[in-house]
Amino acid sequence: MALGEFDLIARYFARATPQAVLGPGDDCALVQPAAGMDLALTTDLLVEGTHFLPGTDPHDLGWKTLAVNLSDLAAMGARPRWALLALCLPAAEEAWLAAFAGGFHACAREFGVDLIGGDTTRGPLNLCVTAIGEVPAGQALRRSGAKAGDDIWISGQPGLAALGLTHLQGGLELPPRWQARCIERLQAPRPRVRLGQALRPLAHAAIDISDGLLADLGHIARASKLQAQVILDQLPLLPEGVDRAAAMDALLSGGDDYELCFTAPSRQRLALGCIAADLDLPLWRIGRMVAAKPLGDVLLMDADGRVIPHERQGYEHFVN
Ligand code: ADP
Ligand code: MG
Repeated sequence: MALGEFDLIARYFARATPQAVLGPGDDCALVQPAAGMDLALTTDLLVEGTHFLPGTDPHDLGWKTLAVNLSDLAAMGARPRWALLALCLPAAEEAWLAAFAGGFHACAREFGVDLIGGDTTRGPLNLCVTAIGEVPAGQALRRSGAKAGDDIWISGQPGLAALGLTHLQGGLELPPRWQARCIERLQAPRPRVRLGQALRPLAHAAIDISDGLLADLGHIARASKLQAQVILDQLPLLPEGVDRAAAMDALLSGGDDYELCFTAPSRQRLALGCIAADLDLPLWRIGRMVAAKPLGDVLLMDADGRVIPHERQGYEHFVN
């Protein structure tokens, strides 16, 4: 007999929710934020064919569906606590559901999130998560907080996910050493949740790189009414053996990396070095925020301060 909606929810999604007053099963979930905390709320929609390739491994997809939302919480310096999952499925295929739920719950476990509710309906494959986190009142890292003179930093190695996607689409050869890493970054990104929280007392502004480094840094520049100057020589080393132009394009404009880009005053360099060591995650100081016109722009510069033209910025729905 076909699996009904409520059996499906009970079997694959309803799990213990120790952090909630009330989990799945009623008209609403109930949660109680800790005293003195602001709630951080975010939602992300993943549509087959737009955000992931048809036939994507369901376990990876389950992980990524939650991970991209936790990345938004990380970018605000928030601690993830709860999530809601709205699922639109063409069919109740048990093998697919078991794998998808396995990936989702694995990510939830890893980052301490309770799945407290959602909605399940039939239709074209669409996945929507709402994630809720907590951040000490007034201390969230906003895009608008950058100050003139701040260093610009990025974590990890942005660009690998875009290289993985181009490779899977048949557009790029990758050496075996990079192939697995790039595909893993694309399909099972690791939200920088610990980094985001560690940055709260040190950074002035942060964003997660989901649409491309230059595009997302542009959001900080515009929100903070400053210019961002990125120094080409200070960017992370490009993966060895990968076509340089493709790797540089992926680093500057590729989406789906979920690394953090943030700004911090130069007096925090030492503390940030300690965090990088502590988290075993490279942090690259790639430029600075300046009060120069045109405000809101992101300029790419050589070591002598000469502007290097660049074309593509990042991904924008309805434009690309
Ligand atoms: P309602 O009709 O009141 O909106 P639903 O019948 O859609 O409630 O859902 C029943 C319960 O199951 C609700 O508590 C809802 O939050 C939960 N739920 C539905 N889909 C999911 C899901 N995919 N994951 C977790 N909980 C779910
Ligand atoms: Mg409902």
